[in-house]
Amino acid sequence: MLQRPELGTIVISDAAAVIHQPDVILFDWGGTLADVAYQERRFRNAAAALASGMEVDAGDAIADSLVARIYAAEDAAAGDPELREADLRAVIREWADALGRPLAGAPLDEALDRVGHAWVGSLEPFPGAAEALRVLRGRGCRMGLVSNCLIPRPYCLIELRRQGLLDLLDFQIISSDVGYRKPSPVIYRAALHAAFPDGAPPCLSKVLFVGDSPAFDVAAPAAMGMRTALVRCRRGIWPAEDYARARPDLRIDSVAELPGLLQPH
Ligand SMILES: [Mg+2]
Repeated sequence: MLQRPELGTIVISDAAAVIHQPDVILFDWGGTLADVAYQERRFRNAAAALASGMEVDAGDAIADSLVARIYAAEDAAAGDPELREADLRAVIREWADALGRPLAGAPLDEALDRVGHAWVGSLEPFPGAAEALRVLRGRGCRMGLVSNCLIPRPYCLIELRRQGLLDLLDFQIISSDVGYRKPSPVIYRAALHAAFPDGAPPCLSKVLFVGDSPAFDVAAPAAMGMRTALVRCRRGIWPAEDYARARPDLRIDSVAELPGLLQPH
């Protein structure tokens, strides 16, 4: 979900101009359907509110310390050999411990709820994304979200509803809920299970994965047999070698282009 440094140059390769419309489309969220625009500010606001509730002087350093702990937990999860997602409740508990104001039980639940609600509003939908999903839904595509996000699922659903995306997605697979992050096979399997609830053996070439990460949204799903579309977002954290390795079927600047590039049956 994090997008910090500026993205380097992306090598353009000879991806196909048009592909057949898939039965199922799996979308990444941050950098794909929406820009992660205000996340840091919202975490800081939550930290300041929590600190003042704990009667701690809510200065910049206190707000920064929660943001730093959240990002460090996400980095650690991304580096974990099993790709287990970070536990936001544990991050808040450890932050409160470090402030000398330990939280447990109901007060810890309330703090987590406060951070979750404060996080809503962090993502700004990209222009045309919701409209593209509406068009694809009208053409009979089944669509789902597959997101690396350590925010608990209920707040993610509130955020998706605020963005006008929730009702356009048949299912939402969030790493905080699954317990594992992309590119763990566990989260892709959860997505395919949701995409094919009847248990029919999925023909993965009829599944398109769309996202801005060349490793998580292109290389890993492509290795499983899915078609892929790489979104060239404005900012990213993805290493140049990941772009060099990725072989997407489509390269797009925006999800808004997608309906025009998928040939209906
Ligand atoms: Mg992304």
